[in-house]
Amino acid sequence: MTQYYCSECHKKYPIEATRWKCNCGSLLSLLPTEHDTSNDSWTNSRSIWRYASSMIGEEYIREFPSVTLGEGQTPLLALDETDGAPYVKVDFMMPTLSFKDRGAAVLVTVAKGLEVKKLIADSSGNAGTAIAAYSARAGIECDVYVSADTSPSKLAQIKAHGATIQSIKGTREDVAAAAQLAVEKEQTFYASHVYNPFFYEGTKTYAYELFEQLGKAPDTVIVPVGNGTLVLGVYKGFTDLLAMKKIQKMPKIVAVQATRCAPLAKAYEDGQPLAEAVINEGTVAEGIAIAAPARSKEILEAVRKTNGTILTIDEEEIVQARTTLAEKGFYVEITSAINYAGYVHYAKTPNEVIVIALCGAGIKTPI
Ligand SMILES: [Zn+2]
Repeated sequence: MTQYYCSECHKKYPIEATRWKCNCGSLLSLLPTEHDTSNDSWTNSRSIWRYASSMIGEEYIREFPSVTLGEGQTPLLALDETDGAPYVKVDFMMPTLSFKDRGAAVLVTVAKGLEVKKLIADSSGNAGTAIAAYSARAGIECDVYVSADTSPSKLAQIKAHGATIQSIKGTREDVAAAAQLAVEKEQTFYASHVYNPFFYEGTKTYAYELFEQLGKAPDTVIVPVGNGTLVLGVYKGFTDLLAMKKIQKMPKIVAVQATRCAPLAKAYEDGQPLAEAVINEGTVAEGIAIAAPARSKEILEAVRKTNGTILTIDEEEIVQARTTLAEKGFYVEITSAINYAGYVHYAKTPNEVIVIALCGAGIKTPI
């Protein structure tokens, strides 16, 4: 059976509904069984579930047919008609309009398999809306802890799915702490896109899809980074594809942060193994404004192992990138626009095959 595993103290735990961290306080990973590794008997499903056989913990995701909303298999398109134009992965074409559906679908499927009746999530918005939608579909009661300044359109989406919103004044870290306190008090399932490693079994399908759409690995993937759900998913997915011998080289991961909240970029530049918490000075890229990313060690390792880099982008450039993308037909959430700004800054080489992530729909943050 698949188990949870602590990479700090090496303790193992069975997969149980109320387990969300190690007794030593560290975050958990999934310890694959022999069956889990390199199983590429993919199906014809037109969703992320095509790759169910390659997800770790296959025995915990059997409930997916009653949870799926058809997430995944999003388009990969050329950004425009210019020579050497990068590709864009249009992940805002998802059931709840963001890439977070990849992880949320898997996480709620696991919760249903564990017969969870109620779950708790915390989110700056997109993960919360995704968890709320899949919980509604799965018939699981859902509380979502959000920051008091979350955009009204995201809150409306969460409410529409019947989830209970717990609005917390304070930092993103205060919101997470309040959710974790409730999880402990109520002894229920913590549907955290940061703590629960099943989330990454969903986001790694992003890499599988890129591989199938291109017929090879891209050279470079440009993704936003806050808590690292996409960076880690991309890294895990391409690591699997290397193990399956479907690709020969690991693409570079170029991660992008807002200058006004960039703990990972600072740690990367300073050669540090962990990110130190910074003060969030406030950024329009609210979806990645994470001052103290809990999985910073894994994120930094992933970027370094791929010979990638972490870029920082100023506010005006994020706003400008949003306008530029919209003028090309792609109306993305302002946080997602940072990836295009990252591309503009990135020192590309001739013929480099680059993919830019378009993670969330513009309607989520209309201003
Ligand atoms: Zn531990």
